[in-house]
Amino acid sequence: MPRRRESCANIAYSGEAQSDQEYVESQTMRGDFGIALRAIPALLYGEGIAVTQDIVSILGVTINNLTMTDALEWTAARAAGESAGQICFYNADCANIACRDAEYRDVLLRADLVLADGIGLKLAGKLLASEIRQNVNGTDMFPRLCETLSGTGAGIFLLGARPGVPEKVRDWIVERYPETVVSGCHHGYFLEAEEDAVIREIAASRASVLLVAFGAPRQDKWIRGHLNETGVKVAMGVGGLFDFFSGRIPRAPAWMREIGCEWLYRFYQEPRRMWKRYFVGNAVFLWRVLRARKQPATPRGPFQAKGGGAA
Ligand code: UDP
Repeated sequence: MPRRRESCANIAYSGEAQSDQEYVESQTMRGDFGIALRAIPALLYGEGIAVTQDIVSILGVTINNLTMTDALEWTAARAAGESAGQICFYNADCANIACRDAEYRDVLLRADLVLADGIGLKLAGKLLASEIRQNVNGTDMFPRLCETLSGTGAGIFLLGARPGVPEKVRDWIVERYPETVVSGCHHGYFLEAEEDAVIREIAASRASVLLVAFGAPRQDKWIRGHLNETGVKVAMGVGGLFDFFSGRIPRAPAWMREIGCEWLYRFYQEPRRMWKRYFVGNAVFLWRVLRARKQPATPRGPFQAKGGGAA
């Protein structure tokens, strides 16, 4: 399977094995910086061979390269099925966290569906000649999911965010999608001693789909640890989604989302919390991708094929 660009900014490279060897032998900080600079015109003007694959690997995490429609179909089928499945959204910040948090990385590798979230992943896909089909993020997926589940009887449980916030999201769903069942909701600031009661509440609600909004990586680890106890069929970590749909935090205007600059709006809203994630984090992510691009390919891990049970 072809994995790399064969040209960069319309300049042909020497053979891949040879250039990998050269990189290993001559790798320096300055050289890496040069690679980063050369990647800019490559992105803008390059005509490299980008191959669309169903499974792509970005920084060692395998991603299901689905469109939004595919992801919704998968979720609806799973919600109506028998075995429980975990969905993770994987963005540049998640990739950076996964590089230093082995437990989170393991959760991502074992998840049933990992979706490419954000412009950073699209860019990484371009650089690694593994075209990402669509930016499938939780915030765009959520209203479509409500619509997809409308009339099916498959209920949604909303877990996470500040007290009162998931209730507002429930009201948002009820108002716009009256045929969509909201099985229950609970905030995300419960004590460890209350965790069992929360899990029992989810199980008693008989919800099919669980949205957990604790922020990454905590939400994804929590799902991994408790999916089977909750009795739901699909669970996904959705970060700050409830804050947006409750109206607590306004979402970026559509035009900003369309040009892939939602992150800039998030930074403007919470500069003190977000500057590191976006300005440092995005640079580090890009740096890692560029290095991965020049490193000899390593064999993939054992969880390459996704779609099995969560356990
Ligand atoms: N949160 C929570 N319990 C906690 C800490 C955080 O429910 O103990 C919620 C918080 O209120 C917010 C969400 O987790 O709604 C995290 O949002 P953030 O934007 O940080 O997540 P990201 O999208 O970055 O993963």
